[in-house]
Amino acid sequence: MSHALLSITFLTFAVTVAASAQQPTAPGQIRPRPGEGRDPEFPPPTILEYKPRSTLVVPAHTVPRAKFPVVDFHGHPPALTSPENIQRVVDAMDQLNLRVMINASGRSQDRLKQQLAAVAASKHKDRFVMFTTLNLRDIGPGSGARLAAQLEADVAAGAVGIGEINKGFGLSARKADGTRLKLDDPELDPVWETAARLGIPVFIHTADPSEFFQPIDYQNERWLELALFSNRRYNDRARYPSFEELMAERDRLFKRHPKTTFVTAHLGWHAHDLARLGRMFDSLPNLYSEVGAVLYELGRQPRFAREFLIKYQDRILFGKDSFQPDEYPYYWRVFETNDEYFDYYRDYHAFWKLYGLGLPDAVLKKLYYLNALKIVPGIPRAGFPG
Ligand SMILES: [Zn+2]
Repeated sequence: MSHALLSITFLTFAVTVAASAQQPTAPGQIRPRPGEGRDPEFPPPTILEYKPRSTLVVPAHTVPRAKFPVVDFHGHPPALTSPENIQRVVDAMDQLNLRVMINASGRSQDRLKQQLAAVAASKHKDRFVMFTTLNLRDIGPGSGARLAAQLEADVAAGAVGIGEINKGFGLSARKADGTRLKLDDPELDPVWETAARLGIPVFIHTADPSEFFQPIDYQNERWLELALFSNRRYNDRARYPSFEELMAERDRLFKRHPKTTFVTAHLGWHAHDLARLGRMFDSLPNLYSEVGAVLYELGRQPRFAREFLIKYQDRILFGKDSFQPDEYPYYWRVFETNDEYFDYYRDYHAFWKLYGLGLPDAVLKKLYYLNALKIVPGIPRAGFPG
């Protein structure tokens, strides 16, 4: 900007400020901003092009290793079937202070036994536990009892939970009669009751971020992500139920089985509205959640999220979701530091910066491992402080 132009801009600004000082803005009336309605003199950048460099200089602390050993409740490691794969995952875990990974890519029957056998035969049998899964396609009369029997066998073989039951449950899975399988379909009651009797958690991912169910317009916070990924668009009500319909089915399921421990994935997709999740925790003592893939929500509300994680410190577990070792340190930094205005690892998730929550040690320990040790039976205790 030339010196002359700068002076004119400043003059306009000074006049506007003087005018507004004399005529206070009426309630509800928005004061025109200097330059309002003016067209940029240069072609504006696209959403993909505009990447302003932050000039902010503040203390910064990267955290390559978590302060305490961690259980990753929401692990999706590569198949744990070969010694090479197992060693590769453990090497990455050691760097991050991840002590135990729960394989939430649940497998049943022979595929479960294969992974259990491979881990048991490795040098790292105390670093992994396995969940089983449920085949929720073509559910019909008798399916619930059959799945419950299979669950019992998988747990006898060594599985320590069910999950991750993926978002297809509710969004797209069809019953044998062709109708959509609702989350609270009574046919599945024997499965959830068996999980309660066996004392294992049920880990369910329901729906997806609520913006994925909304029109893809320029007010949508996830516009870029929706424009990039066609398989994340659920705004067609002829094909998919609404977000709220899925939430209602999910909450009825949790309520109908008070003795079953449920873990709703991704903070239940309420991380942008933590008070709502808080009300769920208040009314459902059997409910837990985990923080996988929603760090961008916590990091944009450091004060409220900190209060929330302290208030519900007994209900929230650490989980990462996709296994990208270089992404875990972003979680440690948000949870452990008071850093300000730093980048998240995916710009299409979040057009904003993150802030550290500076959680107290006692809360970090519950988040990182104590809550997982409490609700998941059979996690090896070695390596965790008392
Ligand atoms: Zn997952």
